[in-house]
Amino acid sequence: MNTTTDMPTADQQAAEKAAEKKAAFEINKLSKRLHRQVGEAITDYRMIEDGDRVMVCLSGGKDSYGLLDILLGLQQRAPIRFSIVAVNLDQKQPGFPADILPAYLKSRGVEFHIENQDTYSIVKRLIPEGQTMCSLCSRLRRGILYRVAGELGATKIALGHHRDDFLGTIFLNMFFGGKLKGMPPKLVSDDGRHTVIRPLAYVAETDLERWAAHREFPIIPCSLCGSQENLQRVQMKKMLREWDRNFPGRIDNLHRAFSHVVPSHLMDRKLFPFETIRPDGIPDAAGDKAFDEDDGDDEGCATPASAAAALPAEATVAMPVPRGRRDAPA
Ligand code: SF4
Repeated sequence: MNTTTDMPTADQQAAEKAAEKKAAFEINKLSKRLHRQVGEAITDYRMIEDGDRVMVCLSGGKDSYGLLDILLGLQQRAPIRFSIVAVNLDQKQPGFPADILPAYLKSRGVEFHIENQDTYSIVKRLIPEGQTMCSLCSRLRRGILYRVAGELGATKIALGHHRDDFLGTIFLNMFFGGKLKGMPPKLVSDDGRHTVIRPLAYVAETDLERWAAHREFPIIPCSLCGSQENLQRVQMKKMLREWDRNFPGRIDNLHRAFSHVVPSHLMDRKLFPFETIRPDGIPDAAGDKAFDEDDGDDEGCATPASAAAALPAEATVAMPVPRGRRDAPA
């Protein structure tokens, strides 16, 4: 039996109400940010056009649920008309709960197709025990999804990769592949027949996690195949999360940096004709000043301004005015 001491006090009730209000405010902010970022990516890369039929690949993980959910929201308010068909490839992994996605998609009133293909057995047969299966598995999946896209008349194939997948891939390729190569927000498939888009290209994974919890998506665990997630990729994810925690803003800057590439300040001769450049005698205010200190933002590096401050007054008079940070993201 409740006693009066169990009853929340007026102060507790007020605190609870305030907490609820704050949570609703934060979710509203998150919703706006997600829809804005996805809308911006779609516009920036012209991912979806009037009349498109977008095939959303749904794995049952938080990212693809989030993608579908946000696209459905944008579909209601977009100035263009496009249709959505959700597709799940049931790879026959042991214990895959085949009824979860159809039930969810029916409840959302979304057109969908479940493609049943036992790629699990193929991969198990061909890959020796203990080796990672992901490479073959994803190659098989890709081929099947391209075929299904053709059969469904899809004009775009939407994948749920997000900002942190993009950054993780960039670092993986730099650390282990010697290449500056990420994940394109939009590409033509290797069979030359499909346009693949990544509308979550601007979205942070942590936002997708919060959105999935708020929307209570019926998440299907991704470990059913028993394959270990690529350990290097896990390391990249950990590194990025630590940076985000310890250096707020660094991940955003990194992400922006890959949309502000300056080929003349890299070393790829295929992107910039270093061999043939010649002085033309015409001053360029935005041109490089090769004898200046680098004005990068590396921790511990003295910028020209801080170096100038450390010098005696007579020396600073002769210091060139630090140039504007034209290469920095706006
Ligand atoms: S984790 Fe499993 S399902 Fe995913 S790509 Fe690897 S083998 Fe395939």
